[in-house]
Amino acid sequence: MAGEAQADCLFCKIVAGEVPATVVRESATTVAFRDINPQAPTHVLVVPRAHYPNAGALAAADPRLTADVLRAAAEVAAQEGIDGSGYRVVLNTGSGAGQTVFHVHAHVLGGRGFEWPPG
Ligand code: 5GP
Repeated sequence: MAGEAQADCLFCKIVAGEVPATVVRESATTVAFRDINPQAPTHVLVVPRAHYPNAGALAAADPRLTADVLRAAAEVAAQEGIDGSGYRVVLNTGSGAGQTVFHVHAHVLGGRGFEWPPG
């Protein structure tokens, strides 16, 4: 069924507390935790508790949960103090774009400058 936890999914295991992570914010529907290999002074991943493989699948199945993820990203940015200077929210989609974990996650990156176009 859509959204069901997947036994082989790393981020489902983090949501379930089976794999440790540094959680910085939680809601009824989302969990935010620090990236294990940070690419900026602040690098937090926001995931829905429910399993969807990518942003498009999430948005098609559950627009309200999609909004929860984006709101949580903004709340993390404010909590981390990077909302004033600007921050980047990244949703890599597909291996060609750099997605390596197929449980949708929003990267919240800040605390340094960013270039455009991204690499
Ligand atoms: P993606 O490449 O799929 O957009 O992002 C996956 C992210 O998950 C990467 O930035 C990677 O560093 C992070 N990551 C991979 N394994 C773990 C882990 O076990 N714990 C945490 N906190 N982050 C992880």
